[in-house]
Amino acid sequence: MEGIQEIEKVGSISVFSEVAKLGHEQVVYCHDEATGLKAIIGIHNTVLGPALGGTRMWNYATEEEAAIDVLRLSRGMTYKAAVSGLNLGGGKAVIIGDPKQLKNEAFLRRFGKFVNSLGGKYITAEDMNMKTSDMQYIGMETKHVTGLPVEMGGSGDPSPVTAYGVYMGMKASAKKGFGSDSLGGKKISVQGVGQVGMFLVEHLTKEGAQVFITDINEERLRMVANSTGATVVGNDEIYDLDVDVYAPCAMGATLNDQTLERIKAPVICGGANNQLADEEVHGQRIMNEQRVYAPDFVVNAGGIINISSELMGDYNRELALSWTEKIYDTTLSILNLAGDEQIPTQQAAMQIAEKRIEDVGRVKLSF
Ligand code: NAD
Repeated sequence: MEGIQEIEKVGSISVFSEVAKLGHEQVVYCHDEATGLKAIIGIHNTVLGPALGGTRMWNYATEEEAAIDVLRLSRGMTYKAAVSGLNLGGGKAVIIGDPKQLKNEAFLRRFGKFVNSLGGKYITAEDMNMKTSDMQYIGMETKHVTGLPVEMGGSGDPSPVTAYGVYMGMKASAKKGFGSDSLGGKKISVQGVGQVGMFLVEHLTKEGAQVFITDINEERLRMVANSTGATVVGNDEIYDLDVDVYAPCAMGATLNDQTLERIKAPVICGGANNQLADEEVHGQRIMNEQRVYAPDFVVNAGGIINISSELMGDYNRELALSWTEKIYDTTLSILNLAGDEQIPTQQAAMQIAEKRIEDVGRVKLSF
């Protein structure tokens, strides 16, 4: 069977009840027998603008897992865009299967056709296991694709912009936590020195912070240590360091029951997505411990800000960076709101995003 359909059940979860709970506008199932394409596009909210979010390809163990992932990720994009002041909604796509076995021109172009059939309501971009060349094929079937490399007329690697935003968020968090936004002399641990982590370490060492880094990629770790003067520490040791700031820049869920026993840093701010293993439990715990946690989706929004500049036409990196600089003010106002209302910072950020969607949505009602 080929075509787009919205179906009720996947595995043991009811997509309709999940959608009702999380508030999605539309979930699109894409299937093409000939190429073996199985994809789900989640459109969470388009009140502020078209739903933007990358396409991730993953060999999900079950279709249920893929559905949960796309629903969760697309919702996250709504909050990220809204809190960053962008006129974009939240969306995401997942393609199910082994990238090495399935990806080819026809497969990717077929996916591009599905994206195109939504008429711009969903705009796609690169995400996990999707390469630039893959986006090129998708782009042959739809213009609703962004975040392309410079040589293809796009905005290029967003990581330096993301890292700059994390740096701004960290300065705002330091202001809240230590009374000054200067990071000079501060001890900062950075977990993961990939694209975002590496550029972040550059900013931090330039400002005179004492930076400790770890990465499972030894070669990369040495390279960043040599170029920045940061100190290398062990992968597990990172949680026990006596530092002022802990910056998770590798994977999600590193703020959990076990690590929070060990992390001593009074300020937590990094680029990784979904840092809180349990948003409510660990967000509340960090608040109770009177530490400052900068919500990840606020401080790592530089990438989407960069892409939104590309969407406005005539991409200009300086403009994207100056917009990203506002993450400082956004972070500080969220931390202050959380302090005033005695709520976890993640909750405060979500409140601000929801209020903007509600307020702007009302404005849009009139002709
Ligand atoms: P990346 O793959 O370039 O870097 C991640 C690094 O973390 C790699 O060097 C990897 O070896 C390392 N790593 C993985 N597991 C580790 C572990 N257990 N301990 C230590 N190091 C480990 O990815 P990136 O683009 O730098 O993104 C980093 C994080 O930021 C991800 O969570 C990503 O989703 C998020 N993020 C990135 C962007 C962006 O613009 N690139 C935007 C928003 C959010």
